[in-house]
Amino acid sequence: MENKDHKFAPPLYVTGQKCFICGSVYSYGNVQTCPKCGIEGILDVCYDYDEIKKHLTPATLLSRKFDHWRYKELLPVPDDIQLPHLHVGWSPVYDVPRLASHLGIKKLWIKDDGRNPTNSFKDRASSVGVLKAIEFGFSTIACASTGNAASSLAGLSAAVGLQSFIFVPQRAPEPKITQLLVFGATVLKVQGTYENAFDLCREACEKFGWYNRNSGTNPFLVEGKKTAGLEIAEQCANDLPDWVVVSVGDGCTIGGIGKGLQEMKRLGFIGRVPRLLGVQAEGARAMVNAFKSGTDLIPTETNTIADSIAVGTPRNWRRAIGQIKQSHGEMITVSDEEILEAMKSTARFGGVFGEPAGVTAAAGLKRALETKIISPNESALVIVTGNGLKDIQSAKQAVGDPISLPPTMAALTAVLSSRKTN
Ligand SMILES: *Cc1c(COP(=O)(O)O)cnc(C)c1O
Repeated sequence: MENKDHKFAPPLYVTGQKCFICGSVYSYGNVQTCPKCGIEGILDVCYDYDEIKKHLTPATLLSRKFDHWRYKELLPVPDDIQLPHLHVGWSPVYDVPRLASHLGIKKLWIKDDGRNPTNSFKDRASSVGVLKAIEFGFSTIACASTGNAASSLAGLSAAVGLQSFIFVPQRAPEPKITQLLVFGATVLKVQGTYENAFDLCREACEKFGWYNRNSGTNPFLVEGKKTAGLEIAEQCANDLPDWVVVSVGDGCTIGGIGKGLQEMKRLGFIGRVPRLLGVQAEGARAMVNAFKSGTDLIPTETNTIADSIAVGTPRNWRRAIGQIKQSHGEMITVSDEEILEAMKSTARFGGVFGEPAGVTAAAGLKRALETKIISPNESALVIVTGNGLKDIQSAKQAVGDPISLPPTMAALTAVLSSRKTN
């Protein structure tokens, strides 16, 4: 690695890392969780906002590139580090009136994060993760995952020239493993469960000196995810939605988006923060349970087609629930049937094809309108977090088979007239 021996100056505006449980603040550096509170002690990166306010203004943003590095003052990244060349962030926000009227809401936007380089929201986090590995002097990065975190890590590692090791459980789906192999990751298929793969990855990072891109707990990854909130504030500044709707697994995505929106309010870009609606699958509802009961999180079994949010032990629940409450938001669950229905309606009325976890927020919006959490006179922005081509198996459950016919006009005419009478 060309960067290996270079010493980077610490990010200009980071003041430290603060534990969500005990409140201890640690000076900036390679700490992943609070040494006093252990794995539960998630750290929050703190910034000098007064100083940032002088440098990050609507005027300075005018001349910057339209990707998520445009908010560099609010990211824990050294000023002199080479950024990955892949285009991450600044995903489009679409006004979707046909989907709005289908669902019965006055105004609706989709922010399509399936448009990121490896086709999911996770690229926001991995792009920061690979820079942290380089900054802290690692040439190898690892994670345990079967899904989008893994493919985005493999893709971003390829872009910056890091070696990547991905631990996947026995039952990982073939297409996702193939995406990892194409990007050149070393894929280690562990004969066991996801938890076995997770533990082996952690031990391997310690033993071999690899950087751990641990999705749930690494404090810097959330900072990458928060850029979606920063973007929403800038892209929707003139017509801010009443609600921002997000699917929830570990809680880093919604917690990060909430932090990003709060920061943009603090810096004067927006006057208020939209309410956050967090949506989980019924078969993976640990966070919703904790939100409703007000107690600490109790892990659950998981059973849902939305594999990217099938998380039994969400790691970042304190951050997520804190942000949702601060925004006067809500949490709900949706069934797999509602998710499959949302996959069709988001594509057919909005023109955006999302994977199951990618459209879970859209399913949640429908449920929230039905249960009157959201009123038809309000407006909402739904984030589609992953592209539908990632999981063709589930998509096929939502739609029927194509019409098969011989290559003749007679056959076509017969098919079309039989459809009319149906
Ligand atoms: C990871 C993921 C989520 C949820 O993000 P968390 O930070 O785990 O809450 C939602 N949708 C997709 C497509 C994902 O890959």
